[in-house]
Amino acid sequence: MSKSVGMLSALPLTPLHYPFAKVLSKLDKRLILPGLVVGSVIPDIEVPFMWVFFSEYQDHFILHSLIGALTLGLLAAVLVTRFLYPPIISFVFGVDKDRLNEACRLKPILVLSCAIGVLSHLVLDVPMHPYNPILWPWVPSSNIVGILVLFFAQGNGIAVGFVRANALMSVVMLFFCVSILVRYRKKKLWEHVWLGDDVGESQRVD
Ligand SMILES: [Zn+2]
Repeated sequence: MSKSVGMLSALPLTPLHYPFAKVLSKLDKRLILPGLVVGSVIPDIEVPFMWVFFSEYQDHFILHSLIGALTLGLLAAVLVTRFLYPPIISFVFGVDKDRLNEACRLKPILVLSCAIGVLSHLVLDVPMHPYNPILWPWVPSSNIVGILVLFFAQGNGIAVGFVRANALMSVVMLFFCVSILVRYRKKKLWEHVWLGDDVGESQRVD
């Protein structure tokens, strides 16, 4: 696996974890969408960090392990959701800051939502990556090859399998992203996208 292949495909996919978070928020309405969203992308903050400071190592490491994701990753997700999400989302998308702050108040269900979001990231990553430190430090990451990578690698090598698995997953998740945007295009889009359906529904004006 060349470093460039990993770099090309790692970060562009990060926002495409969003639809999974949105689906989870619909499956259980008690979960808090901002926590799910932040949790679902937070493990990838280690990727550019690894490129810059530890380029000799694989760019998925502690935050892509269960133990790291549910400790450091969860802590980062809770802090980002509580303190950064409301001001950034209100500034960039014009969503009401008070409602964001209310949704992102520190409480057990927010922590649980962040934890589920973090786990959702790993669930999506594992099938499409050629190495997975999910059981670090007990099982070497090279021992856990994504099932989609193996499927597409047949006769073509792991690198090709990785690119194809990423391409497939990107297309599928992009489809869901566009579907969500189309679904809510006339109904307070950004409230639905960043706060959740219940909040958007109660404020609906159409
Ligand atoms: Zn990842």
